[in-house]
Amino acid sequence: MVVGNLRNAQVVINEQAIFDNITKEKARLPKETSLFAVVKANGYGHGAVPVAKVAQKAGANGFCVALLDEALELRRALFTEPILVLGITDPKYSAIAASAHISLTVGSKAWLVQAKTVMAQENQLRPLAVHLGIDSGMGRIGFTDIPEFLKAVHFMKENPDYFEFEGVFTHFATADGADETYFKAQATKFNAYVAALDDPPRYVHVSNSATSLWHEACNGNLIRFGVALYGLNPSGHELALPYTLKPALSVYSELVFCKKIHAGDHVGYGATYTATEDEWVGTVPIGYADGWLRRLQGSKVLVAGQYCEIIGRICMDQFMIRLPKAYDVGTKVTLVGQDQNAQITLQDVADQSQTIHYELACILGERLPRKYIGLQTK
Ligand SMILES: *Cc1c(COP(=O)(O)O)cnc(C)c1O
Repeated sequence: MVVGNLRNAQVVINEQAIFDNITKEKARLPKETSLFAVVKANGYGHGAVPVAKVAQKAGANGFCVALLDEALELRRALFTEPILVLGITDPKYSAIAASAHISLTVGSKAWLVQAKTVMAQENQLRPLAVHLGIDSGMGRIGFTDIPEFLKAVHFMKENPDYFEFEGVFTHFATADGADETYFKAQATKFNAYVAALDDPPRYVHVSNSATSLWHEACNGNLIRFGVALYGLNPSGHELALPYTLKPALSVYSELVFCKKIHAGDHVGYGATYTATEDEWVGTVPIGYADGWLRRLQGSKVLVAGQYCEIIGRICMDQFMIRLPKAYDVGTKVTLVGQDQNAQITLQDVADQSQTIHYELACILGERLPRKYIGLQTK
């Protein structure tokens, strides 16, 4: 992948914002509750390793990722904290995980039986740390009945050379919504699994960002803190935050071209935009290949503190905007962030494109270089 270091477009990550968001959350947690920073999908597009470094400084006790490869990336970057893979890993990689001290999510006894065979064949010396996932209503992965769950627990107890039962967890489908009915039903189901254990494992956990922000009473002793550490409200507009989060990500570019067009002139593929009078048009070198979706046509960016509309269809690598007057090539364009007294948030862009900020952050292309503003030294 060629990263566009020589282009005038970049994603800027404010490390202090990440640090402050984690510090504020940690301050609300009882001392014995661990915070694992969720850095899957390249740290929600912010950069997994740099985000993990800041999270570590802010006191994160471990990390969650979605894939074994993402966990290994952190180990290669020399992180020694606990790492939990939240997705299902193929049992054929169980020995790799165990030898790298990476904890895996398991949702069936059959998985453990297969993993035992693999680890025996590969002479794996260290047991694999396992978190049993409970499907209490998300309908995604995990145990759906208690007897099967207990069989898995017993299988691990009978095979201590291969498995360490380290955690049990569930994931809520509606923790970010105002209606708590389904949330409560899931919590009740999960609690029945935990109550069926003679001896609970080290970690009992249920909380993504939304659960910890709005249902902290059921946190257990570990939270999986994701989107909020990046400064984004998990509920979008639905629920007010208990404390202020600072968004970490901005997107900037520059005008690479500026010209006057006249009534009747067209702009972009399909010639769908028609000028009605003399207009100034600027070209911004970011496109849908960078994650700036075609459906963002009609949305706004900031130039000199003013909102300017994207006109015509967004191209793969460029889009055009209507300017109130002529601006020099090189003038800063803010796609996400603050410019003078005006601001565009990732939430605003999500609203414009009928999606959620999570998705937009993740799809910002690798071709956009990430620039990091370091922690302020006091
Ligand atoms: C992604 C994920 C999280 C983090 O969710 P946020 O809403 O970003 O806090 C937590 N738990 C599981 C199982 C996940 O898949």
